[in-house]
Amino acid sequence: MRLARSAALCALLLLAAAAALRSARAASRIPVDATGETTRRVLRLATGAVETVPLEAYVAAVLPDEIGSFAPPAALEAQAVAARSYAVAQKGRHADQGADVCDSVHCQVFRGLGRATEATRRAAAATRGLVLVQGGHVVAAPFHAVCGGRTARPSAIWDDEETPELTPVEDDACLASPGARWTFFLPRAKVPLLAEKLGFPAARFLEVWAHADDGRVAALRLAAPGGRSRVVRAFDVRARASELWGWSSIRSTDFEVEERPAGYAFTGRGTGHGAGLCQAGAIARARRGESRDAILAHYYRGAAVATLGARGAAE
Ligand SMILES: [Zn+2]
Ligand SMILES: [Zn+2]
Repeated sequence: MRLARSAALCALLLLAAAAALRSARAASRIPVDATGETTRRVLRLATGAVETVPLEAYVAAVLPDEIGSFAPPAALEAQAVAARSYAVAQKGRHADQGADVCDSVHCQVFRGLGRATEATRRAAAATRGLVLVQGGHVVAAPFHAVCGGRTARPSAIWDDEETPELTPVEDDACLASPGARWTFFLPRAKVPLLAEKLGFPAARFLEVWAHADDGRVAALRLAAPGGRSRVVRAFDVRARASELWGWSSIRSTDFEVEERPAGYAFTGRGTGHGAGLCQAGAIARARRGESRDAILAHYYRGAAVATLGARGAAE
């Protein structure tokens, strides 16, 4: 069925969602010349314990679970700069629990210092202290598995001070990677499950409602028999679908939806939120000889690399 459109309602709901995100994630920005903060407090979610670890050892330990220790050196080093920036910028993200970051995908996957390998220690050492900066502050450099051809605009996903303003870029390097193209069929009988998770259990129909300027879907509209409807963020639809049917259901927000008699056919590009460094692309670029700095410059257009603690080094 075709649904009537109300741009004003859509804008209102997206603004409310953005405000909720901002208040949930507000934290202070870290200047690039900050010194003396060379450890991070990591919250271990399984036990509630907080582990204080040296920043550089932390970076070497998260790389195996974030990009894999067998990635080529230039890709590992680019990921090391991103992971370090993220950990520095997210200082105090878990302040309520006495920590900076947690050990899950909510922040960065940390399974203990023993996860570091020879290769990831080398990548951390080769990039020691290097961070991504914007306006003199370290940014929470985003990264994801596969963009599928074009990266996303971070501010279309998160609205907080640590998120950098990056220009979406074309990416031909990841197109042959698993997850660059995907399909998912949502049977009509399962629409209520998803609708319930999204807080509108009466919904039986859905359609793409709005796109962000990076081309990804920003919002979908859910509709119930009788005319009631609700606009929901595409990011939330993907998150709830992942909870229900796994991360390989709706893999990204870069998709089209076609309504068929038996349900909804999703056809999409990329895996993950799509912002910042595309890990599959970074690995392919490193294999074809691109340097760490070229990889960082491609995916973080609008940010610069600086040395943490070096006054005046930003941008
Ligand atoms: Zn966390
Ligand atoms: Zn890509």
